[in-house]
Amino acid sequence: MGKFEYAPAPESRAIVSLRESYGLFINGEFTPSADGRAFKTISPATEEVLAEVAEAGPADVDRAVAAARRAYERTWSVLPAKERGKYLFRIARIIQERSRELAVLESLDNGKPIRESRDVDIPLVAAHFFYHAGWADKLEYAGYGPAPKALGVAGQVIPWNFPLLMLAWKIAPALACGNTVVLKPAETTPLTALTFAEICQQADLPPGVVNILTGAGDTGKALVTHPGIDKVAFTGSTEVGKQIARDCAPTRKKVTLELGGKAANIVFEDAPVDQAVEGIVNGIFFNQGHVCCAGSRLLVQESVYDQVLASLQRRLATLRLGDPLDKNTDVGAINSAAQLAKIRELSEVGEAEGAQRWSPPCELPVKGFWFPPTVFTGVSQAHRIAREEIFGPVLSVLTFRTPAEAVEKANNTPYGLSAGVWTDKGSRILWMASRLRAGVVWANTFNKFDPSSPFGGYKESGYGREGGRHGLEAYLDV
Ligand code: NDP
Repeated sequence: MGKFEYAPAPESRAIVSLRESYGLFINGEFTPSADGRAFKTISPATEEVLAEVAEAGPADVDRAVAAARRAYERTWSVLPAKERGKYLFRIARIIQERSRELAVLESLDNGKPIRESRDVDIPLVAAHFFYHAGWADKLEYAGYGPAPKALGVAGQVIPWNFPLLMLAWKIAPALACGNTVVLKPAETTPLTALTFAEICQQADLPPGVVNILTGAGDTGKALVTHPGIDKVAFTGSTEVGKQIARDCAPTRKKVTLELGGKAANIVFEDAPVDQAVEGIVNGIFFNQGHVCCAGSRLLVQESVYDQVLASLQRRLATLRLGDPLDKNTDVGAINSAAQLAKIRELSEVGEAEGAQRWSPPCELPVKGFWFPPTVFTGVSQAHRIAREEIFGPVLSVLTFRTPAEAVEKANNTPYGLSAGVWTDKGSRILWMASRLRAGVVWANTFNKFDPSSPFGGYKESGYGREGGRHGLEAYLDV
């Protein structure tokens, strides 16, 4: 049977009005960096330069932290809680109104398919602000005492895989609890954070409550080590997370870290195979596998291994890779040349260590950063591709015979962010969930998120929770 051909269905870029250059957002205004430094952000799908963005240095970090402190002391901490809530509701509504623009901009700067930015990222961003707006004047019912207090100024550093969503996970609870923030987006994806700064202006948020500093790792380091902040929230690699934990250890800063993962997605012989295959695909190929909780280790019960693998390969042959702005695209671009190099390197290690590599026939665009959906079979627990976070569209397949063996293999990792279980038996789901050392266990589904549900890790996946009642604790003096 020939492959069904789709006509191109690109979403229009016209809704986005990109500026040639962007300043830092400090005290409610866009301003150049003190030393005039700037960098360019590109579209990973085409390598086209999208805009030039200011690079914050230590003097800018000082300025932003001072603005956040002033706003905390004079405005935000003395504002009645229900007024804080109103600002958050207003921001949430503006995000909904501007959702198409934000989705197109996110896909341009990050490379993710418009279907995902439009249907997953941006709706969750709005949901996060709505959810936390509701908490602002109800904190005494959150279980942290009768009048829980804010911490003060939060320094927040986020990665490039879900740029605006990670911003929402950081800023919404911080503001709802009465803190002010200085946030640094990732170097490769600053544009939706800068549009969020415009949204703060549009919502008449008091100056200094939210400050956005664009820059690279040095800017992040200057922010988290600044003596003027009370709280550090970081999402990113385990390596940088450990460095931040060391940097903050001698201080009184409260720290939460959300780091890497190597999640097991476990398929039992009684699972509905077609449904499980959809879950496997969603688990590792959603967002090109740039997901900290991605189901990157597939554990299949030996008795159904051939059947699951054949179905998976059939399904992968139907995935469409290409233009992120095309509404029919399933797999977009890899976010950067550096990330592509890392995915290539680990995939070559997988082959060299003896695993078998397979990808569906798939034409890669000439320009930009691309990697085909890839499956490794014959993987053993000792292989690096079974142990290390690849953070790309690469799945390692292992097998097991008994539930106890599945638990042992799933937990055999320094990480513990998430896991998936596919089975027809409710009792087995509960048996597995109580033994898997992971912050989230999905049953007969994968990669499902909700602002009311806490998210976070065991072991080297970090500490602290984001979302839900539990996530408020990170921003309260309790
Ligand atoms: P990083 O941990 O370096 O980046 C995360 C954020 O931290 C970025 O904003 C980054 O800035 C900033 N940063 C970098 N160094 C420091 C520092 N010393 N102090 C404070 N902030 C800092 O991840 P990478 O983007 O380099 O990705 C590397 C690997 O990390 C990936 O291949 C993937 O395996 C993993 N990763 C995991 C994520 C997760 O959610 N679990 C998210 C992102 C990456 P900038 O980007 O500007 O350099």
